[in-house]
Amino acid sequence: MDTLSQQHCYHHPRREAVVRCPACGRFFCRECVTEHDDRMLCSGCLAQLAGSRGQGAGRWRERLALWTQGIGGFLMIWYLFYLVGRMLLAIPHEFHEGTIWHADWWRKP
Ligand SMILES: [Zn+2]
Ligand SMILES: [Zn+2]
Repeated sequence: MDTLSQQHCYHHPRREAVVRCPACGRFFCRECVTEHDDRMLCSGCLAQLAGSRGQGAGRWRERLALWTQGIGGFLMIWYLFYLVGRMLLAIPHEFHEGTIWHADWWRKP
């Protein structure tokens, strides 16, 4: 039933089909298919494949950007805490030497 000799190109009804696209199952003439990964794909399926691949790459890039941002943010926060920690370690010495709040604290009843 689905023999090639009885089929005609999906795009060119007058031409005899020589290839059946494995992706969509339609029949095409030699001009309407392109070899891709050892398969003969029609122009429509090839465009779809290229489109989905482009989207995939975009998603991958998006994910990478998100990861980079996340790691960057994490490092920023970590560095901030590190700085605050250093400041907290540095501050008491200065306060102990001064009499600002230390004196007030033990004078209260
Ligand atoms: Zn196809
Ligand atoms: Zn054709």
